[in-house]
Amino acid sequence: MEAREQLIHLLKMQDLARTIRSNREIIDHAPARIEEIEGRFRDRNTEYVAVKDRFDELEKDVRERNLELETLLAGRKKYSEDLMQVQNQREYSAILKEVDQVKARIAEHEDVVLANMEELETLKEEIASMGAHISVEREKVAVETGEVDAAVKQAEAEVARCTAEREQLESELPANLVGTLTRVESQRHGLFLVEVVDGTCQACFVRVRPQVYQEIKAASKLHACGSCRRYLYHAPSLRPALEEPAAQADLSTSGVEAMNDPQV
Ligand SMILES: [Zn+2]
Repeated sequence: MEAREQLIHLLKMQDLARTIRSNREIIDHAPARIEEIEGRFRDRNTEYVAVKDRFDELEKDVRERNLELETLLAGRKKYSEDLMQVQNQREYSAILKEVDQVKARIAEHEDVVLANMEELETLKEEIASMGAHISVEREKVAVETGEVDAAVKQAEAEVARCTAEREQLESELPANLVGTLTRVESQRHGLFLVEVVDGTCQACFVRVRPQVYQEIKAASKLHACGSCRRYLYHAPSLRPALEEPAAQADLSTSGVEAMNDPQV
């Protein structure tokens, strides 16, 4: 394989690496995005649950007090009957004292029940309005998390496609070249091929020798930057090659891709 063709392979591989990286970011950030969406929902739900808890608590209190009121009212009735059968003043006074105590407890329960009923009315309205709001929120959460899930699925498919495509390109290159560029890639933040503009490496901005620059422009030889070790290419001489219809036998799929490449 000629140097020019190798460089075109490298260029495609670098583009694929970039696409893979941006899609991996989508996948990696998805859990945090979902956590954030659900967190917002939980905040609203917590508010709702607090109001609902207060409502249930009051309702239970009213129920218990009403039961006790029944007992107290029955007691008061019994004391009234007892009063009619008392034999002496001492008994009469004793029962009257009991009746007063029962009356006081009845009054206390009735006051609390009344206050609770009023608060329950208010809470009921709050719950109704919050409930409507929460079901809207739930729908929103479902839509938003659905969007994240769909984006992840798409990103995973894209990573798989690009990985397979890169493996194919690598298999067509000499093993030692693949070994070197993989090493540079891992040491240099994923960038193993960089453009030379006006004789300068665009990653580290070190100049290349004029003779080397000529060879890079002609794509007649593979050169690595003497400073950052990245492979170098001259975009105006190589990028149009990506656009060419599949002249070489192994470029059948990349023809379509090149037409979609906005950088060309
Ligand atoms: Zn460099």
